[in-house]
Amino acid sequence: MKISCINTYLCSFMKVFKFGGASVKDAEAVKNVGKILQKFSGDKLLIVISAMGKTTNALERVMNEWYDGKLEEAHRELAEIKNFHNKIIGDLVGGDLQNNYHDVDNLFIELECNIENAPVNKDYNFLYDQIVGYGELISTKIVSIYLQSIKMENRWLDARNFIQTSSDYREAKINWDPTLDLISKKLLPLVNRQLVITQGFIGRNERNNTTTLGREGSDYSASIFAFCLDAESVTIWKDVAGVMNVDPKRMSGAKIMREISFNKAIELAYYGATILHPKTMQPLLRKSIPLYVRSFVDPDEKGSVIRKVDKTKEENITCYIFKDDQILLRLSSKDFSFIVESHLSSIFSMLAQLNIQVNVMQNSAISFSFCATYDERKFATLIPQLKEFFILEIFKDLTLITLHNFKGNELPDILKDKKILIEQHSKNVVQYVYQ
Ligand code: ASP
Ligand code: MG
Repeated sequence: MKISCINTYLCSFMKVFKFGGASVKDAEAVKNVGKILQKFSGDKLLIVISAMGKTTNALERVMNEWYDGKLEEAHRELAEIKNFHNKIIGDLVGGDLQNNYHDVDNLFIELECNIENAPVNKDYNFLYDQIVGYGELISTKIVSIYLQSIKMENRWLDARNFIQTSSDYREAKINWDPTLDLISKKLLPLVNRQLVITQGFIGRNERNNTTTLGREGSDYSASIFAFCLDAESVTIWKDVAGVMNVDPKRMSGAKIMREISFNKAIELAYYGATILHPKTMQPLLRKSIPLYVRSFVDPDEKGSVIRKVDKTKEENITCYIFKDDQILLRLSSKDFSFIVESHLSSIFSMLAQLNIQVNVMQNSAISFSFCATYDERKFATLIPQLKEFFILEIFKDLTLITLHNFKGNELPDILKDKKILIEQHSKNVVQYVYQ
């Protein structure tokens, strides 16, 4: 039975919407967000927005140039980011120079001041968060002011006042107790009253500094807000029609999966399905809050939903997950002895120290192979360390494909003419590393 609301102020039934970079990449896209929101004008909504288009990548470049002391380059790059946003504002206001976007200008002034002089503090990760987090502050200001201009009353809020985190800059962990407390006491009454616009990706630590939740972390922000607000659902608006069983750019015959269980979604994200951010599902699973993935291009299409699904009713379609930029290292001992536990333990401690995640591994009597995503800096440290103890064969530019729920015994067509370096079968997962 659904209890109907007599006092709308007390009833929550909130929805959290998340709009990613592509959904606000230009003025047309921002207007489209406005049209989508108009369809939900009767709902209580919290809107979480990412930086516009590829702004986060551009801010990363500003950060790197500034950090390396290339101040002129950093300012030039920042000027381009400013032009990009000013063009969007210009297109939104249609030449109305008396516009109300001063807050955006102020954010750019702050950013310019921040990078005026070479950094004194050399903590890269800390500085990164202080600079890169501006992408979301700017995008939400623009969307909020635009919505106001089309008479959609809304309240812009700084997510950092609610999302409380550890000081692990660039990978901040949520401090759940204060976050829950702030959101339920301070944010919930506001969302009950009006449309609220806030940022994904950013939070704040106990020292009052900005932190970020890791690249592509805005989905996770949406899920944290939904958890703490006891929202009825989260909707991620994307440029695809839903969650597909394979990236249509890589293989033909992609199908939309209409209903996916949390467990399956978590597994797919674990194997590298980029449409789902791995951390996003956990808070939603805890409270059984469904996650909708819908297209901002076709907002009337129903898309996909990730929720509690009865195991017997789950669609058993095969999913193909590709991971490029893989490196494979094959190690054998220098004295022809077997690879034993003591070798493995030293290999894994080196990997753990460098924070390298192994995607697939395989061992035989005389060799141990593993495949990981290539990172130039990390492998430049690891390879000489391993060479001290092992004979090393290195293969680069590989792809890892994971087949989830693969029934056939034969090689999938996509691998027919490929050189396969590792093949691994487990109960319902098959993985190949190929060139
Ligand atoms: N803007 C951030 C990024 O591009 C966060 C996000 O988009 O989810 O990584
Ligand atoms: Mg983004």
